[in-house]
Amino acid sequence: MADRPNVYDLSLADCVALLQEWGEPAYRARQWYQHCYRHLTVDPLQMTDWPVRLRERLAAATRWGVLREVALVTGDNGETRKVAWTLPDGSPLETVLMRYPDRATVCVSSQSGCPMQCVFCATGKLGFLHDCSPGEIIEQVIWAARTVRDATTGTAGPRRVTNVVFMGMGEPFNNFDAWWTAVERLHDPAGFNLGARNFTVSTVGLIPGIERLATKSLPVNLAVSLHAADDELRSAMMPVNKRYPIADLMAAVRSYTTQTRRRVSFEYVLLQEKNDDPVQAERLADWLRPADAEPLLCHVNLIPWNPVPGTPLSRSNRRRVTAFQNALQARGVPCTVRIERGVDIAAACGQLAGRP
Ligand code: SAH
Repeated sequence: MADRPNVYDLSLADCVALLQEWGEPAYRARQWYQHCYRHLTVDPLQMTDWPVRLRERLAAATRWGVLREVALVTGDNGETRKVAWTLPDGSPLETVLMRYPDRATVCVSSQSGCPMQCVFCATGKLGFLHDCSPGEIIEQVIWAARTVRDATTGTAGPRRVTNVVFMGMGEPFNNFDAWWTAVERLHDPAGFNLGARNFTVSTVGLIPGIERLATKSLPVNLAVSLHAADDELRSAMMPVNKRYPIADLMAAVRSYTTQTRRRVSFEYVLLQEKNDDPVQAERLADWLRPADAEPLLCHVNLIPWNPVPGTPLSRSNRRRVTAFQNALQARGVPCTVRIERGVDIAAACGQLAGRP
């Protein structure tokens, strides 16, 4: 029954319409939707506020998730969990949950594999395999929400997902419509009810996506993967730069901050003696703190590179990371070094490649 819809692909209006066909009132649809997004029920037969016959009918007509768990690994004393899934077409997907004393963040994939081919990233080595549907994105968050809610060990931190970051496999802006539908669904106060500020999307720098996001009223956070401050180096690391070079990208980010008044994050992966010279930090500061324009409303996140097997690169040592950070800060650029999670289980940034 491949044509049974995945419930996570259905809007509340879709639920209402389906039940209407069955002659059921709209309040049943709201109950159903609340089971999915409030109670995190994953089996319709557990919807005990429904008559058994109706539950059975729903179970026969819908699929409650399509992701098949193939491996679960934990690291950081159980505070980080990575789950490897298989999609119905056989392609791999990964999701990472990170629990902290003050928050619980789920890192979600928007595509299986990735077409962007950044040289330092494990996911790019798979090539592009599959665009996730909204439901396939949402289902990853529901898994995380159930996992933190039901955890019996670990931190005394929140028992709900507080942050969703689209920093897993894939390029979200390359799957913009499905990605945005997932954001709106998860934000919906009638359902999962996660605040817009608790979402962060990371892009390789697809300018049309940045422009589209600027027109949205939900103020989700934008992160841009920069990783180099001159076109020659950036194009060598990230092929996308040939299409959207740095000057154009900076102009797009600048108009985004002007339109939205929202601060943008730049991600900068530090690779030993490739892009971590203080000269690069100066060039970066020239973009963000230009002499002839307003300072850009931004923050820089430095990410010491996480190892990817078979890639002839190495992570910057601590001394070079600090020097780079100091050079940026001396120019008045707010800048932090990302705290690592999941490196021991290949669940860190850029390590997701469908290998448990
Ligand atoms: N395609 C989007 C979403 C991926 S987010 C993007 O590129 O922004 C993952 C972040 O981790 C990106 O900033 C990416 O450049 C970075 N990254 C990729 N490989 C990495 C690695 N091996 N070590 C550290 N960060 C990496």
